Amino acid sequence: MARIGIIGAGIIGSATATWLMSEGHEVTVFEADPDGLPASSGNAALIAVSEITPLANLANLSSVPRWLLDPLGPLALRWTDLPALTPWLLGFVRAALPAQEAAGRKALAYLMKTAVADHLRLGAMAGIDGHLRLTGFLSLHDTQKGLRAGHKEGLLVKATLGHDCERLSSADVRKRVPQLEGNFAGAIFTPEYLMVTNPLDVLRRYQSHVRSRGRLVSASAAAVLQTSDAVLIRTADGNHHPFDRIVVSAGIWSRDFARSLGVKVLLEAERGYNTTYTDLPWNLSTPVGFADHGFIASPLADGFRVGGAVELAKPDTPPNYARAREMRAKLRRYIPGLPEGGVEWMGRRPSTPDSLPVISRHPHDKRIVFAFGHGHLGLTQSAVTARHVATLIAESQPMPELNPFDVRRFN
Ligand SMILES: Cc1cc2nc3c(=O)[nH]c(=O)nc-3n(C[C@H](O)[C@H](O)[C@H](O)COP(=O)(O)OP(=O)(O)OC[C@H]3O[C@@H](n4cnc5c(N)ncnc54)[C@H](O)[C@@H]3O)c2cc1C
Repeated sequence: MARIGIIGAGIIGSATATWLMSEGHEVTVFEADPDGLPASSGNAALIAVSEITPLANLANLSSVPRWLLDPLGPLALRWTDLPALTPWLLGFVRAALPAQEAAGRKALAYLMKTAVADHLRLGAMAGIDGHLRLTGFLSLHDTQKGLRAGHKEGLLVKATLGHDCERLSSADVRKRVPQLEGNFAGAIFTPEYLMVTNPLDVLRRYQSHVRSRGRLVSASAAAVLQTSDAVLIRTADGNHHPFDRIVVSAGIWSRDFARSLGVKVLLEAERGYNTTYTDLPWNLSTPVGFADHGFIASPLADGFRVGGAVELAKPDTPPNYARAREMRAKLRRYIPGLPEGGVEWMGRRPSTPDSLPVISRHPHDKRIVFAFGHGHLGLTQSAVTARHVATLIAESQPMPELNPFDVRRFN
């Protein structure tokens, strides 16, 4: 049994704390903003286990110039932040080479194979159930060309993970989701996707489990200090908290801790926006992704959410909610009855250029474990990450299966 300190109580930190507590460790989680709404609270709610293609790939790379022409489109860049983003962007280009993309797909598939089983185990550890539902996912394409590419991708996923995919005409789609009007070519339906009821509710339930079985301290961690006897977390109030092990899971802010511990990481915020409605008289039967526009419509258990797209910007650059408005406007091409209103939100995906999370011991101090950089898939990969972190803490030998997620890859 070890005394373990965790920085950050987003879904990665809370899941990791849950797993470690179930193995008998004494766990303290430091959270700078316990009532805040981080990425983990406002995502699209998908357990997207079929998503194994890294975002860095040649097809996406060739679309970048077109996307950037539309400042409110699927991808935007805050040009004033370009100097800070350049190393990450160069890393993205390198990761898009075919060999790197194939290696990334294999690594993501490794995590996805157990992701659902790990979620079920994690829920049981915390006494949480009823939070997962099998919904499938409909990826809508405006053109036949896009539909063919989507189908090809679906077949690749089937060959790798065995997940089915169904190619649907626009008429088939409208039968399944009668709210969808407008012009589109068809969709690919992948039945293996799950959704959580509501990401905020699930996050709060895991946090409350941490509070009841361990400690969730409302404090900002300012530094990690290494001594021969312990690893210390210094909080912003100047107090020092000694631990046998620590886990850094502070989302985008993890990079500050890694760098101050002498470790290079490429981690930037892919910011996403959404709008959540809680008073619509209708909801969708399944989540729908609008592949040509980079956003998703999610039926939550207690509402409806439209959001997504990517804005590369420094984490603290002021939000541009025109992006949320634009997604609502685009959704009206398919669901004309979508009203104004709803609550807007911006969240920061903690993203690496190769779309792989960092699940890794510190290269020179195995008492420190990193768990961050889950980008678009942190909810999906939270439970499997928690299990691997627990193993990295319990065992001292190398774990070759986790090499793709090693922090040393940024050197
Ligand atoms: C629009 C959008 C849609 C998404 N949809 C999906 C989806 O459908 N499925 C999916 O799997 N993923 C999705 N994601 C991605 C997912 O939400 C993230 O990958 C995930 O939430 C990251 O979790 P995290 O715990 O690493 O980071 P965060 O949720 O950012 O949590 C980090 C926590 O650390 C705390 N912290 C930071 N610094 C300190 C400090 N110094 N001291 C103490 N605490 C600190 C923060 O306050 C925060 O609470 C989406 C993201 C966005 C933005």
